[in-house]
Parts: sequence; structure tokens; C-alpha cells
Amino acid sequence: MSESAGKINLLGLTQAEMETFFDSLGEKRFRAGQVMKWIHHFGVDDFDAMTNLGKALREKLRVAAEIRGPEIVSQDISSDGTRKWVVRVNSGSCVETVYIPQGGRGTLCVSSQAGCALDCSFCSTGKQGFNSDLTAAEIIGQVWIANKSFGSIPAKIDRAITNVVMMGMGEPLLNFDNVVAAMRIMMDDLGYGISKRKVTLSTSGVAPMIDKLGEVIDVSLALSLHAPNNELRNQLVPLNKKYPLEMLLDTCRRYVSRLGEKRVLTIEYTLLKDVNDQPEHAAQMIALLRDFPCKINLIPFNPFPYSGYERPSNNAIRRFQDLLHQAGHNVTVRTTRGEDIDAACGQLVGQVADRTRRSERYIAVRQLADDAVEPLATHRS
Ligand code: SAH
Ligand code: SF4
Repeated sequence: MSESAGKINLLGLTQAEMETFFDSLGEKRFRAGQVMKWIHHFGVDDFDAMTNLGKALREKLRVAAEIRGPEIVSQDISSDGTRKWVVRVNSGSCVETVYIPQGGRGTLCVSSQAGCALDCSFCSTGKQGFNSDLTAAEIIGQVWIANKSFGSIPAKIDRAITNVVMMGMGEPLLNFDNVVAAMRIMMDDLGYGISKRKVTLSTSGVAPMIDKLGEVIDVSLALSLHAPNNELRNQLVPLNKKYPLEMLLDTCRRYVSRLGEKRVLTIEYTLLKDVNDQPEHAAQMIALLRDFPCKINLIPFNPFPYSGYERPSNNAIRRFQDLLHQAGHNVTVRTTRGEDIDAACGQLVGQVADRTRRSERYIAVRQLADDAVEPLATHRS
């Protein structure tokens, strides 16, 4: 529970925590459901707007509690409909949230930490280092803000946000309790009512926490694989030295088999030119994932300055995809969305407080990217 000036921020409370809170006020537990609907369905942050609560209760709530989302620093809408918010959290850092519409789906990509301690070699968030864990209110607050931008939740259908992926900044399993609480609110009908299949946590592979996750929740899981052997993965994802591939995949298999119902692991694989995009890598990957219940999502590298990596050519991407496909895998190539507002994977660099400096930096990024990389006509299988 996050608090400021002694007030409890109700935004980040799960239903169970909200009921405990109303108990502590000497009020009836059913108030929890009423208040959650006001907050999450209608985007309300003012107790006076909660017309089904008596005046005395509203006054009591004003003294004890608040509903406070992260501060919006900027919001942009891309020409392809992608939306991006930069929000400032309590620690003073900024993080980013991205909304990606596609067909009938609307996927919100949510951050779990400001910065990240894990330092994957191709990730701009990792290059910033770790700054702070987000509170549950700051994590669900990103969904709250995005949802409000589409108006309140009218009915179960036609919701703008149909899917949430914990694929923004940070390693969600290293901020376990807050991420789990926020995901519970995402799935709760009193919150955002998103199905467990459509809430996905992406991890670089914190094996023990994957087991722990399986004990408390049943969201979908994505593993950032990026390399088909330990030697290469040690270089790209340093955490691999602690939790190497074989034990990590065993852990993921356990997680997915617990879910049952034909659910599979999503494998994310960022394609880096001449590093992990060769036919031999595809062959190793096919051997590694033989009989593993998974679908594979290839992410062409999104460049940033001085990364030292390049995006493979369209042909190389297609070749890699075809090899996996021929071995019977379900493989998609993640289309690059929202590039004009720097909203693509690995371009989330929200920490810089000064927007002017940030824009200058991004002009430089664009130029470098344009010089270094041939344009990619994205494709899907
Ligand atoms: N920390 C978590 C989730 C956030 S990153 C994780 O690593 O899984 C979401 C995905 O984008 C991860 O698979 C990550 O490895 C990938 N990614 C990071 N930087 C990227 C870049 N510059 N280009 C393409 N994908 C990148
Ligand atoms: Fe952290 Fe994920 Fe980036 Fe690795 S890829 S540094 S785990 S945010």
C-alpha cells in the first residue's frame, strides 16, 4: 500500500486489500466494490463524485485516503494510432506506457520499474541502470490513465484495452509483490476485467520467481530468450549466468503446465544482425525448443545510439522466421509500431526528466537509425 502524508492511495489496492481498508474504517466491506468501480471503471479520483456513498463516508475517506495516479508528463498519438504516455513516479523518475491498437485488439504495454538492473546488452532501459521499483498504484495507474483517455468502461464489450503486457521498462519479477497486486486488479471485474490469458508477464528469466509466480497467479508468461545457447545468452542477458537455459526452460515448462488449458509460453527473441540471426542459431533454437509448448515472437532490434548492434535485413528476418516455421513452430515477427513517437520496444527511455534534452537526443537517435538501418517493411506470418 502506498501512502502520502499519511493517506492511503486506494488506486493500488486489490479487492482484498480494499475490504481490509473498509474494515479498518469500521465500514461495511461491500463499499470496497463500489469504490473500486468508481476508480477503475469510471476513472474517478474525487470522493465527492462517488454519489452512492453518504456524505459522512465521503468525508471519512477524504481524511484517510486519496486516489492518486502518476503525474502525466506527456502524451503522444502516433500516425498509426499508437499512444504513448510518459509519467513521473514518486521517486522522481519517468517511465513510459504504450497503447497499441491492432485489429479488434488494444494492447497496453506497462512498465514495472524505473530503469532496470539487469543490463541486457541490447536494451536501452538496461543502459540506464536501476532507479526504483514502481508501487502497485504506479503500475495500475498506467492502465487507469490509458483507460481514462478512452472514456469510462461502458460494458464488458468494446473495451479499448483488451490485453496488457508487462513489457515496458523494468524486470517485473524483481518487483514481484507490486506487479502481482497490479495484475490482480487488471483481471478483477471490479478493476479492468481482462482475462488471465490476456495479461502477459515478460521476464528475462528470474527462474525462482517464475516458480513463485505460478503459486499465486495464472497470467500468461513470455520469456525473453534472445539466444539458443548459454555462451551467447551469457553475453546478451547477463542474468543467464545465474539461471542458465536448461533450468530456466524447465521452470517455464512447469509454469505453463500448471496453467493447463492448452496454454503456451511465448518466446521473445530480439534479432540482432550477425549476432543471433544466423541459420545455425535457428537450428539450435529448434533443438532447444523441441516438444516445448510455445509460440515464438521475433522482435527485429530497435536501434538506439551507441548500442553497437544493428537490425538484420528483411531477408535475414524472413529467413530466420521460415526456418523456425518449417520446423513446425508458430512464429510471428513483431511489427514495429509507433516509431514516430519513439514507442517501439527498447526505445522506452523515460527516465530523462528534461523533455527538451530528450527531444534533441531523439533527433540524434532518428538520424543514426536512418543512416545505419535499411527501412524495414514489417511483415507477419
Ligand atoms: N524486462 C522484461 C520486460 C521488458 S522488455 C524482459 O526483458 O523480458 C520487452 C522485450 O523487449 C524483451 O524481450 C526485451 O528483451 C526486448 N527488447 C529490449 N530492448 C530491445 C531493443 N532495443 N530492440 C528490440 N527488443 C528489445
Ligand atoms: Fe531489463 Fe528487460 Fe531491458 Fe533486460 S531487456 S535490461 S531485463 S528491461
